[in-house]
Amino acid sequence: MSHSNISIFVPHLGCPHQCSFCNQKHITGQSKLPNAQDVEDAVNIAITSKKYDKDSCEIAFFGGSFTAIDRDYMLLLLKTAYQFIKNGQVSGIRISTRPDCIDNVILTILKQFGVTAIELGAQSMNDFVLEANNRGHRAEDVVKASKLIKEFGFSLGLQMMTGLFKSSEADDLYTADKIIELQPDTVRIYPTITIKNTYLEKLYTEGSYAPQTLESAVALATKIEDKFINNNINVIRVGLHSIEAESYVAGPWHPAFRELCDSLRCREQLAKALSKKAEYIVRVNDTELSKFIGQKRSNIKHFEDLGFKIKFIPDNTVNKSDFIIEEVK
Ligand code: SF4
Repeated sequence: MSHSNISIFVPHLGCPHQCSFCNQKHITGQSKLPNAQDVEDAVNIAITSKKYDKDSCEIAFFGGSFTAIDRDYMLLLLKTAYQFIKNGQVSGIRISTRPDCIDNVILTILKQFGVTAIELGAQSMNDFVLEANNRGHRAEDVVKASKLIKEFGFSLGLQMMTGLFKSSEADDLYTADKIIELQPDTVRIYPTITIKNTYLEKLYTEGSYAPQTLESAVALATKIEDKFINNNINVIRVGLHSIEAESYVAGPWHPAFRELCDSLRCREQLAKALSKKAEYIVRVNDTELSKFIGQKRSNIKHFEDLGFKIKFIPDNTVNKSDFIIEEVK
């Protein structure tokens, strides 16, 4: 069943935190707070779309800290969204928030108004990384909030970042392992991007912070995604959606970040099957062809440089997760 979200951005006005990677002016200065009419309009537009399916359509309040916004305003948004659940036009509500903004009271309210999924910005499970990036919460908050969310019967989503200030590859892999222990239903992996007017920009400019290269971020995100997949955790996002060009300072942003990870995974799988330097035909499912070839034929070039000549052939009889390799004699 295809899944669709009606996304409503709720900026967190006056957030008391100063996370190293976040430009609050950017968040709060340019975005209008949605009102009840905006929520109704968004749903009414979505339900006329061809892709609309009432059983899989959810309203998603995203923007970071839904449960930390003004309580009356949060209730207004929830009540407005809930009427579409009651009349059967929408199947649930998703929200995202900070790990230290979850407790019994808030979860009771969320349950009452039809919230089905809660995503927490965990970002790191290393306290020294959370502290160095001014997150204002500890790893223990992620553990406590995750357990409580599951006890209440919500779907749990956890978001993590790679390449934060003071975080090494080993620290990020540790974060992934700790997240796996919490058994979330979904995860998102975000490589850190340095944007203007942030603490990270200052650290980067003075030479104290070195962002990940695109290559290292792709390699690490692929490893982390594999860990989650191997533990039956649904990875719903790898890489940031988009970023305003004028905000970008540094870091491994790419419009098709996840495809780069997919291509790297295909390259690694194929490398294990190649031994003799020779010419090969590799049959792959149609849907996987571009991943095997890689962006700008990167995988073909990579193997050519190593002495392997490879021709990929689309073949729908091959399983999606498989390939068939034949040496050309
Ligand atoms: S990322 Fe951090 S600073 Fe930015 S809105 Fe969220 S909690 Fe506040």
